[in-house]
Amino acid sequence: MIVGGGVAGLSAACHLTNMGWRITLLEKRPFLGGRAYSFLDPIMGTEIDNGQHVFLGCCSEYINLIDTLGGLNDVYIQTSLRVPIVLRERNSYIYSVNWLPTPLNLLPSLITYKHLALSDKARIFTALSKIFFVNIKKNKTYLENMTFEKWLSENYQKTSSIMPFWDLIIKATLNSSCEKVSAYMGTRIFKEGFLHYKNGGNIGYSKIGLSNLISKNIHQILSTTGGEILTNAEVSGILTDNELVTGVSLRNTNKHSVHKIESDAVISAIPWDKINLIAPQSNSMETKKVFSTPALTHGSIITLHIWLNKPVMNSDFIAILGSELQWIFNKTKMHETASNGQQLTISISDAEKYMSWSKKTLRNFFIEELIKSFPSINETNIVRFLVIKHPQATFISKPGVENIRYPQKTSFKNLYFAGDWTNTDWPSTMESAVISGRLAAQQLNNLIMETK
Ligand SMILES: Cc1cc2nc3c(=O)[nH]c(=O)nc-3n(C[C@H](O)[C@H](O)[C@H](O)COP(=O)(O)OP(=O)(O)OC[C@H]3O[C@@H](n4cnc5c(N)ncnc54)[C@H](O)[C@@H]3O)c2cc1C
Repeated sequence: MIVGGGVAGLSAACHLTNMGWRITLLEKRPFLGGRAYSFLDPIMGTEIDNGQHVFLGCCSEYINLIDTLGGLNDVYIQTSLRVPIVLRERNSYIYSVNWLPTPLNLLPSLITYKHLALSDKARIFTALSKIFFVNIKKNKTYLENMTFEKWLSENYQKTSSIMPFWDLIIKATLNSSCEKVSAYMGTRIFKEGFLHYKNGGNIGYSKIGLSNLISKNIHQILSTTGGEILTNAEVSGILTDNELVTGVSLRNTNKHSVHKIESDAVISAIPWDKINLIAPQSNSMETKKVFSTPALTHGSIITLHIWLNKPVMNSDFIAILGSELQWIFNKTKMHETASNGQQLTISISDAEKYMSWSKKTLRNFFIEELIKSFPSINETNIVRFLVIKHPQATFISKPGVENIRYPQKTSFKNLYFAGDWTNTDWPSTMESAVISGRLAAQQLNNLIMETK
């Protein structure tokens, strides 16, 4: 049994089904996808994502999962890294020259990048070369205990390069800033994403709504071994008997006739701050330890969906420097929709300061920011403005976090955890969620094979 129909739960379900096991997946909401979901906007009649989700070429397990789910034709992946970056209406690009070996493939882009002084570019190239050569796994303890900002300053980076280069990537990938994340995760992002292999940083995105992408074939896949998915099925507790998990109880929602489901093993693929809610009714110290909440910190994201009555952007996405807008995605182009207008999705990471703002204040502030970046539009061009706040979008890879993430295996023999927050060596991303599901499935399969 798998509790939670986010990316981690679906990954575990696909892997276990592939190993021949019959899975029941329980999801409390009416739809699958977890924090990566989509819904129909009732006013515009278009499918929109809760928040823009991109993946990189290095997210190989996420790409494999999409392939398993039959969605590869519904995603776009760049063949070579190219990111347009705008500062005060001046366009520049970070790109890879694929015939050059890494890290030299990024050198032409650094040389021609307009938003940095020459001295900063030279320092950045030195720091990137250091990341390229350093064995970050061997130096994990040292790197995990300092902030990325400290590491950058120890490696001669000036504040003038933080905003236009280092924070640009860190905010987008770690939903935080160089001053808050660990040097381990900071260096790892640049190594895995941009320096390890050439296509690691290629940007990918879904051309259809996220829930559609993920749930297209999942029912059919699970049914090959007799498995099923129950939505609107909120697990209220994990049932145990003598240190073994025996199944789960469901909250009475009148949607399902059963209130208890027995199972040989359970994978809990729900967020870390919810695991204590499904703890078994037991006062044992061991149970308390397994179901206690690890001390991770949430990071927020704000997503703005804006419909315009005329197009303003040609490219599929841009990063904007010196503006609170951060990243703008042209959903009309990304979803290959024919329209005289344009639908934009603006993704604002590290957005704690906006969480208490009202919708009206957010609208006024961000429309003004948008008009500054696109002076050809004004208020009358805005057809619809929708804001989605995600106070608990990701966990933050602060220094020390890698030491407190839980393994998938618990001290209950037949209970495993999955979720982006478990120990995968990846930050809070869909790739981490997929890896966690695969690790939980493999360990559970091994256990059953050993006891047979
Ligand atoms: C706005 C936003 C933008 C993001 N952008 C990106 C991005 O660009 N790239 C990227 O890689 N990642 C991004 N992320 C992070 C990514 O969405 C998550 O890392 C990933 O989806 C986590 O998956 P998960 O399965 O571990 O957890 P979740 O998605 O949280 O899934 C947990 C599931 O468990 C269900 N559940 C909870 N309690 C119960 C219960 N008691 N019974 C039954 N079911 C239960 C929940 O309803 C949910 O469906 C973004 C996140 C947000 C919010």
